[in-house]
Amino acid sequence: MITAVFPGSFDPVTYGHLNIIERASSIFDKLHVVVAVNKGKNYFFSVEDRVTMLQDLVSQWQNVQVATWDSLIIDYANKHNASVLVRGIRNITDFSYEFDLALMNRTLATKIETVFIPAEPRYFTLSSSAIKELVYFGGNISEMVPPGIESAILNKLKNG
Ligand code: ADP
Repeated sequence: MITAVFPGSFDPVTYGHLNIIERASSIFDKLHVVVAVNKGKNYFFSVEDRVTMLQDLVSQWQNVQVATWDSLIIDYANKHNASVLVRGIRNITDFSYEFDLALMNRTLATKIETVFIPAEPRYFTLSSSAIKELVYFGGNISEMVPPGIESAILNKLKNG
């Protein structure tokens, strides 16, 4: 049985992330979507909000679960007997960053493989940060995030 881990900030989750989750869940027996908690980073949504939103959206896939982690992702993988780290690749910039990260993780944990999944072409330009900026200036993001996420962003911008 192969357990994979898909780590990220998911601030917030987008259709691009969900596409990778769906595809990874059909390749591996179990998939843990791990929400990064990095005290040095400023997030738009709290970790609780990011987890709740993800849990809601991944409940359609039986073998996907959501967790949080505030340390090295390979430590999470080892703790949960996961042997694969999944990363989505949108472009050469992602590749260059992710390749270095994969090499670093490999030196730390030789038994854990990183598997890159190329982004679905219609989601090539989708990123959580671009979405937040777009909403801030009144842009339409309905093709980029599920309706519940769009309203959560609008609500957060309005009420803080
Ligand atoms: P980070 O916090 O590392 O910048 P995110 O939390 O945004 O990353 O994303 C987690 C993972 O999802 C990364 O592997 C990233 O490349 C991938 N990802 C983000 N957006 C997309 C997308 N539109 N299509 C495919 N993969 C994506």
